[in-house]
Amino acid sequence: MNYKNLKKKDREVYNILFKERKRREDTLEMIPSENHTSPAALEGLATIFNDKYSEGYPKKRYYGGNEFIDMVEILCQERARKLFNVPHANVQPYSGSPANHAAYFAVLKPGEKALGMDLSVGGHLTHGTSVNFSGRYYKALSYGVDKKTGRVDFKEMEKIAKKEKPKLIWASTSAYPRVLEWKKFRKVADLAGAYLVADIAHIAGLIISGDHPSPVPYAHLITTTTHKTLRGPRGGIIMVTKEGLKKDKNLIEKVDRAVFPGTQAGPHEHQIAGVAVCLKEASGKNFQKYGHQIIKNSKTLANSLVKKGFRLVTGGTDNHLMVVDLRDKGISGKDAQELLDKAGITVNKNTVPFDPNPPFSPSGIRLGTPAVTTRKMKEKEMERIADFITQVIKKRDKKTVSEIRGKVKNLCRRFPIP
Ligand SMILES: *Cc1c(COP(=O)(O)O)cnc(C)c1O
Repeated sequence: MNYKNLKKKDREVYNILFKERKRREDTLEMIPSENHTSPAALEGLATIFNDKYSEGYPKKRYYGGNEFIDMVEILCQERARKLFNVPHANVQPYSGSPANHAAYFAVLKPGEKALGMDLSVGGHLTHGTSVNFSGRYYKALSYGVDKKTGRVDFKEMEKIAKKEKPKLIWASTSAYPRVLEWKKFRKVADLAGAYLVADIAHIAGLIISGDHPSPVPYAHLITTTTHKTLRGPRGGIIMVTKEGLKKDKNLIEKVDRAVFPGTQAGPHEHQIAGVAVCLKEASGKNFQKYGHQIIKNSKTLANSLVKKGFRLVTGGTDNHLMVVDLRDKGISGKDAQELLDKAGITVNKNTVPFDPNPPFSPSGIRLGTPAVTTRKMKEKEMERIADFITQVIKKRDKKTVSEIRGKVKNLCRRFPIP
């Protein structure tokens, strides 16, 4: 895309765009929920499919002129079904939060109970936080992690499930560095008679590459984003599994009606076209290699940080992310984030389990490798990044930060964004 029209018609947006492009080129994106979307998927997104209204579903639309829109949405659905190995995929959710909204809407009535992972240990806003619709309109219960191991506390979960009988249980992570044990989640869900919803927003790409077990044999519903490890345009998908159909033969209809007309109107068909491209790319051999490398990079980064004296939540990682506990370093997560930003390393502050500090100034930072792996960085570069992070956090002076800034820029130049 050469942006020649944009340049002519709107210099202001054009100039800001090029500043952002430069920022991206010259910095290391280490936020685990972010990635550099493939150019082909971006081209799919920036299309005239944007112009159509297509409320409804393929072949059952409320507007005329949708024959090609139908083709692109059907293609996207087929690719999602095949890739994730599920009987039904609705590709209309605008993003991860709307997909989760639809999951609640499909199986709960307002005021009914849902059990989700606590925000501070890796749950998501939409899993029952009081400030979110999920905590306002539904009765939210939460489970946490074991104080010693930092792993999901299934005993606690079982107790809550037996006593409270929630109707929906979330199995999910956005800051949990370990494998999600789907079978154990399902056991708890069965104790309560609940729907088990696997929200794979972060790990969808790793499931496709075979680097994280699939929830398909255990979950009734699966929700995901398309822009994290999956590396596509921002979007969401909600899927029904065979297990889901065994539990509730009307689940497909419930899900589709929950998305439209329940919680959304006109689908973003340009976004669906971009997601279709991303799903095609994710089905190739190169994507498998990409997933394997994310994990190798993540483990190398984690091991290097541990060797340099950092404490990681659960002691390490099995997936694409890690949470560094900074309490023994005398720096808050917020200050560490700001210092690293100055050095060109983009991370986000994050709570640690049982964090004594408040969420706007928590005790940890969250790091991930999906974006740097997209730049083709490997283990050797991860060791260097661990060294950069260590120097910035240990020394904290202007001179060190600016020295590291220079080194980060040089590293970035050697690994251009595709
Ligand atoms: C990112 C994320 C979402 C929400 O996605 P948005 O696209 O930001 O709405 C939902 N669930 C989990 C676990 C996530 O990490």
